[in-house]
Amino acid sequence: MPDLIHATAVELAAQIANKRVSAVEVTQAHLDRIAEVDGRVHAFLYVDGDGALEQARAVDHAVASGQALSPLAGVPLALKDVLTQTGVPTTAGSKILEGWRPPYDATVVERLRDAGVVILGKTNMDEFAMGSSTENSAYGPTHNPWDLDRIPGGSSGGSAAAVSAYEAPLAIGTDTGGSIRQPAAVTGIVGAKPTYGAVSRYGLVAFSSSLDQAGPFARTVVDTALLHAVIAGHDPRDSTSIKESVPDVVGAAMSADVSKMRIGVVRELSGEGYQPGVQARFDEAVELLRGQGAEIIDISCPSFTYALGAYYLIAPSECSSNLARFDAMRFGLRTDDNGELSAEDVMRHTRAAGFGPEVKRRIILGTYALSSGYYDAYYGQAQKVRTLITRDFDAAWASVDVLISPTTPTEPFRIGERVNDPVAMYKADLCTLPSSLYGGPAISVPIGLGDENLPVGLQVMAPVMADDQVYRVAGAVEEALAQQWGGLLLDQAVAL
Ligand code: GLN
Repeated sequence: MPDLIHATAVELAAQIANKRVSAVEVTQAHLDRIAEVDGRVHAFLYVDGDGALEQARAVDHAVASGQALSPLAGVPLALKDVLTQTGVPTTAGSKILEGWRPPYDATVVERLRDAGVVILGKTNMDEFAMGSSTENSAYGPTHNPWDLDRIPGGSSGGSAAAVSAYEAPLAIGTDTGGSIRQPAAVTGIVGAKPTYGAVSRYGLVAFSSSLDQAGPFARTVVDTALLHAVIAGHDPRDSTSIKESVPDVVGAAMSADVSKMRIGVVRELSGEGYQPGVQARFDEAVELLRGQGAEIIDISCPSFTYALGAYYLIAPSECSSNLARFDAMRFGLRTDDNGELSAEDVMRHTRAAGFGPEVKRRIILGTYALSSGYYDAYYGQAQKVRTLITRDFDAAWASVDVLISPTTPTEPFRIGERVNDPVAMYKADLCTLPSSLYGGPAISVPIGLGDENLPVGLQVMAPVMADDQVYRVAGAVEEALAQQWGGLLLDQAVAL
């Protein structure tokens, strides 16, 4: 029997298609692994063992009857608890949605099902995806499999930890300001934010609608690209969904050829605040790409310096509007509905009990930034900065094909270290925010260990709808480093 836990998605799908192993065996092996390690990692909020085995049986049936299979048929996946799955609890990491079982599938979930991907369960996250450490979850933190005292990044920390702890070979996260790339970087795996609008937001619990984007996690670049190809594509149920066809991300990941590429190093995403070990690994990755024939060009994007300020006005503003729907009437929690309180008071009590401190902070900030008298000074200004950032990207595309930077300024910090310092927490996304505000694709790929022997990631950013380019560069980096390391960075992790 092959090692089902450490195999890549590509290997598992091939074994299943060739009848060397059944999808049920693969699923059961991962359910067993979850039972073994998740008490320590806490990647999952809900494990749907019966549902997963039922999906696996359907794949085995398709194999037995000789039906054509999709490239990921039978491969297990961990789903961030911000996407709806019919009948399966969906909390978005919040008490206010406790007990809610959605009556419909998100488009992402529908596509996974159609591709025969087996959904193992729902993963932990910062409440409503607000955070960079998964400590804002109402259900307790997730632990980084590399060092259980450290954060796994956020907000998609549960999904990233599940993949890096070998509880699932694939996972779905969402990225509003960095929540796929940052957790991927600090857990030593690959994570991509597709072009905004390339993956449907139908069935994704909204945080900041002009930024939210679902995307793939995996342990290799090709696995990540295969999952990207499954979930991306036009959806008439999402009015911001892009109609253009998805670029060939799988082909680009496999070609991994950067020999004719012009790669821009963003000057503003380095220097003060960047850990020396992070900078050193980044500089080595730059040399590695140069060695593969890429032309390396120094690029200045002056407005990137203002991305953090702009993001923390735009995202809270949109959240203050989106979260108004949690009114104690339509979903989940309702407290103190004792027949004596007015509807307004029940709403007030429910929100007070149901939302955590970070969510309340953002609703207050966003409501203030949008209020008459302050709108122009805050929200309006932030939108102008967003335009300037987009112009920096467009100017860069005149001379380079992609931009690169570290994914995060530091290695994963300790659980508890930044919870009482929101600004320190927000700084975990310094490098990822610009491409979120712009809307282009970006990926994080492991490039080694930093000063504290913890993972460091490289971020690759590309023009809107040039998702293939980020996979090409990430594939080249992964391939070159695999030769140096004799495998993946994750092989160097202390076994759980
Ligand atoms: N850390 C950022 C925030 O708290 C980004 C989160 C995300 O991408 N969902 O908003």
